[in-house]
Amino acid sequence: MSKEQSKATKNCFITQKYQQISSAIKSLKEGKRVNKEFLTGVGVDTHAFEVGRELWLCCINWPDEIGVAGHSDGDVAAHAICDSLFAATGLGDLGSNFGVDRPEYAGASGAKLLSETLSIITKAGFAISNVSVQIIGNRPKLAGRRQEAIAALSAALNGAPVSLLATTTDGLGLTGEGKGIAAIASALVFKVSSNDR
Ligand SMILES: [Zn+2]
Repeated sequence: MSKEQSKATKNCFITQKYQQISSAIKSLKEGKRVNKEFLTGVGVDTHAFEVGRELWLCCINWPDEIGVAGHSDGDVAAHAICDSLFAATGLGDLGSNFGVDRPEYAGASGAKLLSETLSIITKAGFAISNVSVQIIGNRPKLAGRRQEAIAALSAALNGAPVSLLATTTDGLGLTGEGKGIAAIASALVFKVSSNDR
C-alpha cells in the first residue's frame, strides 16, 4: 500500500468513527435510551399462623398446612414482592396502596395484589427486570413445589423472571418457633423510555 493509500484508509476509519459518535450524541439529544437506569428495592412481610385459615403462599394453595392471619390471604411471598416493587419505584408501599382503609382488597389473593402492583408501576413507566424472594419458616417445605410456585408468581407478574429460595432460622425467632412465616424480596426495575414502548 502506498503512503497515499494508507492515509486515505486512515481517514476513512476516522470518518466512520466520527459518524458513529455523532449518531450516539444525536440519540442522546433526542432523549433515546442508551443505557437502562436500574432501580432496586427490598420488601419484607410476616404473618402469624392461625388455625382454621387456608394457607396461600407464592400464589398457590397448600391444603395440608395451617393458614395465616391477615387482612388479605396472607401470602407473605406475594406481599414482600409487592413491597420490593413499590420500594424500587418509590410508589408507596403495600399499606398505602392496598391497606385496611381499602375494603375492596379485604381477602385479596396474593396474585391479585401482584397484578395490581404491576399495573401501578407499569402506569408510572416502569418495567421489571427480575424479582427474587426468600421464604423464612419451618413450614411449608417448598422444595417439592418450587417450580410450581415460581410459575405462579411469575404468571401474576405477566411473565417477569422470578427466583425463589427458602430458609429457616435454626429454631430462633417467631418463624423458628413455628409461630408464622416471613419472606424477604428484592426487585430490580428500570424506567421504560418512549423508545421501548
Ligand atoms: Zn402480608
